[in-house]
Amino acid sequence: MAGILYLVPTPIGNLNDISPRCAQTLAEADFIAAEDTRVSLKLLNHLEIKKSLVSYHEHNKAESGGKILARLLAGETCALVTDAGSPAISDPGEDLVRLCAENGVTVCAIPGPCALVTALSISGLPTGRFTFEGFLSVNKKSRQEHLTGLKDETRTMIFYEAPHKLLRTLCDLRDTFGGAREITLARELTKLHEQKLRTTLDGAVAYFTETPPKGEFVLVLRGAPERSEPVVTAEQALDLYENAIVPDCADGTMGRAWLTDSGTRQSTAYAVTISYQLSQYDPATGETTYADVDYTPLTDSTRTLAWLRAHGIEPLLEGDSIKYGGDADTQPAINTYETTDSSFGR
Ligand code: SAM
Repeated sequence: MAGILYLVPTPIGNLNDISPRCAQTLAEADFIAAEDTRVSLKLLNHLEIKKSLVSYHEHNKAESGGKILARLLAGETCALVTDAGSPAISDPGEDLVRLCAENGVTVCAIPGPCALVTALSISGLPTGRFTFEGFLSVNKKSRQEHLTGLKDETRTMIFYEAPHKLLRTLCDLRDTFGGAREITLARELTKLHEQKLRTTLDGAVAYFTETPPKGEFVLVLRGAPERSEPVVTAEQALDLYENAIVPDCADGTMGRAWLTDSGTRQSTAYAVTISYQLSQYDPATGETTYADVDYTPLTDSTRTLAWLRAHGIEPLLEGDSIKYGGDADTQPAINTYETTDSSFGR
């Protein structure tokens, strides 16, 4: 009869977090498969366990996995440990679990330390629904695709990051989600210098620009606001455009030309219009003071964002700028709008 593969979580900092069941499983297993045998040996010495160790890591997992499977099929029990935390969570182990499952070997996970759950629980952000994103790729294209795919994610998002890559990741998150988005950084969890930084992406970038990051980090990012039904009709947007923006231009020709131009330019015109309008929205009073028109349907930026996106328009966000060519004689060749209101896009 085949043996059992036990997934044994190990402390992410504090050695006292090893549970009696984990220790017992390590002591009773026929052998232990470890990501780094030197790291695991320290833990085993602390627990006064002497046991044969085999190495199972990212770079030998195909070969080592086959050997471990053969021993399991021959009836031995194996305890899989990684350097810290729960095996198979951004750690080697996922492939071994699959191999066992495909070959009828029972896999038994023992609950225990896991950095993402520990960080989420102390984040102060919604925990009801969350998504674990692991490490962002260092490859620029896949990193960008990953982040773009998360732009509208409403669930709390959790990322792992190494200290030397933290600042770049925070900058990329800020560029994707906007500087006002809330983030909790959980550093050195369960260790002597455990730290929680509850801030915004702008705040985190500023902090770690001043203070070089050290130690291990989990990033817990608030999701986008839930979308509600759009309340703005295309007619209202057009009306807003013509009544608010066009009269404000030195010459309305260009503005009106946009509306009859290609679909893309029309979309851009809406986006400019509504983004510009929102840049005048004062969240403290809930009022928009830009022009003498009724903006009531647009003063809720969540709804407006939903409306824009439902109409295939990527809205301008804080700090975005948009360039457009003027074809009317009276207009400069290139104009730039830059949105500035930090309330926009939340
Ligand atoms: N399997 C592990 C788990 O269950 O959390 C994760 C392993 S992954 C290779 C290592 C990453 O987990 C680190 O780069 C860091 O993002 C996070 N991490 C691990 N220990 C941590 C700690 N004590 N404090 C903060 N983050 C930690």
